[in-house]
Amino acid sequence: MKAGTRMVPLECGLIFLVVGLACFGGILSREAGYLAWIWPANAILLSMFVRFPHMARPAGWVAAGVAFLAVDAALGTSWPANLLLNLSNLSGIAVGYWIYMRYPPDIRLLQRPTSALLLVGVSLAAGFVTSALGAVVSVMLFGKTYLWAFAMWSSSQITNYLALMPFILTLPAWKYKSLGLQSLVARAMSRRYANLGIWAAFLGSCALGVVMDGPGAVMLPVPALLWMALAFPLFTTASIVLAYVLWSQAAMSMGIIDVGVNLQDAKSVISLRLGLTLLALGPLAVASTNASRTKLLQELQRMATYDSLTGIFGRAAFLREGADMLTRSPTVLLLMDIDHFKSINDRFGHHAGDAALLGFCQAVGSELSQTDLFGRLGGEEFAILSSSASQQDALALAQRICRKVEETVIVTDDGVSLRMTVSIGVVTASPTVPQRLAELLRRADELLYQAKAAGRNQVKLAPVAQSS
Ligand code: GH3
Ligand code: MG
Ligand code: MG
Repeated sequence: MKAGTRMVPLECGLIFLVVGLACFGGILSREAGYLAWIWPANAILLSMFVRFPHMARPAGWVAAGVAFLAVDAALGTSWPANLLLNLSNLSGIAVGYWIYMRYPPDIRLLQRPTSALLLVGVSLAAGFVTSALGAVVSVMLFGKTYLWAFAMWSSSQITNYLALMPFILTLPAWKYKSLGLQSLVARAMSRRYANLGIWAAFLGSCALGVVMDGPGAVMLPVPALLWMALAFPLFTTASIVLAYVLWSQAAMSMGIIDVGVNLQDAKSVISLRLGLTLLALGPLAVASTNASRTKLLQELQRMATYDSLTGIFGRAAFLREGADMLTRSPTVLLLMDIDHFKSINDRFGHHAGDAALLGFCQAVGSELSQTDLFGRLGGEEFAILSSSASQQDALALAQRICRKVEETVIVTDDGVSLRMTVSIGVVTASPTVPQRLAELLRRADELLYQAKAAGRNQVKLAPVAQSS
C-alpha cells in the first residue's frame, strides 16, 4: 500500500498482531529476572510508525492501544493498572513519534551521521515519559519506591529503544527482492573472504569475552563491530548489534559471562544495561555515516556518468567507455548532430528544445542494442559506438536512425507538436589496426560536416580506416 492512501483494516490488524505479540513476549520475559527484562512493543510500534508514517493515523493508534490493553487484560492485570501502564506506553511512543517526525526521512532512517544522536534523544525522551507514568504502577502494585521503579523502567525502556529501533528502521524494503536470490548469493560469495575475517574477529572476541569474564568482557567485540559497520550494509550492522546486545544481556543474566557485579543490585543492573546499549551506539553511528557517504558517492558517480537531461552517457563517460570498447571489438562510430536545432529553440522555446532532445534520445535508443554505447557529446551532438563490424551494417543502422528521427513527432507539455531531422557521419574502425577514439571522432566530424553541406537529414560514410 502506498503512503497517502486510506488505511485498510489489514494494516490495523497487522499493528494489533505485532503489538499484541510483542506485549505478550515482554510480559513473559518479566519472569526471567532484571537483565532479561525485554519490552519490545514500544520500540517496535514507534519504529513501525516512523518507518511507515501512514500507519500512524488515528485508526493505527487505536489498533495499537487495543492490543496493549487486550494482552494485559488477558493476562489478568487489574484494570486500573492496565489502563495506567498502557497509557504510559502510548505516551512515550507518542512523544518519540512527535520528535522523530520533525526530522526528514533520511535522518530518521539512520542514513545520516546525526541519525545516531537523534536515536539517543528519542530513546531518552520516550523512555523517560513512559517511565515517569509507569513507575506509579510499580509503586501501587509492588510497593517499590518511585525512584527505584523509575530507574528500572527507564533503563529498560531506553535499552529496548536503542537496540531494537535501528533494526526495524533499516529493515530492507521489498524492492530488495527484485535483486533475485542468485545475485544476492553471488554478491555474498564475492565478499566471502573479507567477510570471513570480520566474522572470525567478531565471534572470536565474543568467545574471548566468555573465557575472560570481568567488567570489560562485553566490550571486547567493539573493534569487530566497528569493522562490520564499515564493511556491511546498514541493516546487517543494525541486526548484528541487536543480536549482540541481546546475547550479552542473556549471557550476563545466565552467568555465562561473569561481569563480577551483583545482579541483585538494581544500580549495577541499570549501569550494565545502559552501558551495554550505549556501547552499541558507536558501530551504529559509524554505519550511518558510512551509509550516507556511500549514498553520496553513488550520487556523484551517477552525476559524473550520465547526462542529466537525457539520461544517456555524458561526454566523459562516453569517451572513457568508448576507449575501452575499441580495444575489445571491431567498432563503428556514428556521430550525429540534430539539424537546425537552434530554430526549434527559437520557434518553440528552450523548454520545447529540451523535450526534443529527450525525444531524440528515446527514438535513437529504440534502434540500438544492449551492447551499443550511446552518449551526448554536448548540446545537440550525440555519438554511438556499435560493435557491428561491417560497413553495410553501420550504414543500415545510421539510415534506420535517420528515418526514425524524421518520423518521430515530439509533443511538448504545452501540446506543441514538432519534428526534426539528423545528420550522421559514420566511420568504421579497422579490425586489425588499433584506433584512437579521438581520431575516429575527428574523421566522423568531417563526414558530418559533409552531410550538413549536402543538405542535412542524411548519412555520410567513410571507407575503413587503414591506420590511426
Ligand atoms: P545545424 O543544422 O548546422 O547543426 O544547425 P543547428 O541550429 O542545429 O546548430 P547550432 O550549433 O547553430 O545550434 C545548436 C543549438 O543547440 C544552440 C543551442 O542553444 C542549442 N542547445 C544546446 N544544448 C541545448 C540544450 O540542452 N537544450 C536546448 N533547448 N537547446 C540546446
Ligand atoms: Mg545541429
Ligand atoms: Mg551542433
